[in-house]
Amino acid sequence: MSKQCSKCSKNDAIYMRQYSGEFLCKICFVKSIEYKVKRTISKFSMIKNSDRVAVAVSGGKDSLALLNILKNTLRGIDPVLIAITVDEGIQGYRDESLEIVRNFCSKIGVENRVVSYSELFGLSMDRAMEIRPSEKISSCSICGTLRRRAIDLFSESAGANVIATGHNLDDYVQTFLINLFAGDVERIGWTYPSPVEYGTGGLKKIKPLMEIYEKELVLYAIHTNIPFQTEECPYKDESIRSAFRAHLNNLEKIHPGIKYNAYNSILKIAKRLKEFPANTENTTPTTPNFTDKVNSQEHRKCELCNRDSSNKICSVCRTLNILTKGN
Ligand code: SF4
Ligand code: ZN
Repeated sequence: MSKQCSKCSKNDAIYMRQYSGEFLCKICFVKSIEYKVKRTISKFSMIKNSDRVAVAVSGGKDSLALLNILKNTLRGIDPVLIAITVDEGIQGYRDESLEIVRNFCSKIGVENRVVSYSELFGLSMDRAMEIRPSEKISSCSICGTLRRRAIDLFSESAGANVIATGHNLDDYVQTFLINLFAGDVERIGWTYPSPVEYGTGGLKKIKPLMEIYEKELVLYAIHTNIPFQTEECPYKDESIRSAFRAHLNNLEKIHPGIKYNAYNSILKIAKRLKEFPANTENTTPTTPNFTDKVNSQEHRKCELCNRDSSNKICSVCRTLNILTKGN
């Protein structure tokens, strides 16, 4: 016999939320996800009334779910939403997702703009893979570096002051472990979720899905009829992230809720590190207010492109130099 929903006590449950022990019907499950995201947005003051929000939408479940949730739940705030899609130039892979995003955006009435690596950087990912001087420079690190810049540039040109990305709770915990194992402690402080302004335009980056399990986003997309791309990118590298992902999923199976506990602990650590940057002996908080400008990164400009950078040459210019000149 099927279980009844623990929230409405009317409908049959379609999902058991293991970490809370709740059984949820389709309607209550969808509502619970949207409620949680709304709560995250308000808890960390992510979006305000007058904001123009560029949502980075790739065509995968996370970003499409994010766009749908923002559209459905922010009626009172009514920010302007623009879906920004990056075309990396990966033949046979990106074309499908571009179409999915275009159709979905037109269905829910959100403007969709597409920007390509070829337009911005003069080379596609296919070309970058052909000319990279060594396999040690991983595909995803090239792609991720270029994508962040593409989204920044395009958000600025679209007049957006907030960039929303679809990172979920699993991504957040994995990122913490990656930084921890790389010895990059200061970076952990940068992941604290209250928006930090950066760049000359004062853009803010937010991750409204960071309290939602990846698995629940798949279910949300299925139960709200969001079409999403399931095919994997041909250049996806088996990075350490995949290893952490598999370990965390195994742990979660044995100890339901362990990822959520880890998330809460990481938040506390990130908050402390943001107040007391790890690379100083200073015990005085550098940012009493978490909405201040980037605190621990030295403000410099890249000597080649003149954008903010913590080094003389920014990571995008370094990557392009390696690809085109081999240094
Ligand atoms: Fe780019 Fe890697 Fe994503 Fe492929 S899997 S689109 S190479 S970041
Ligand atoms: Zn640069």
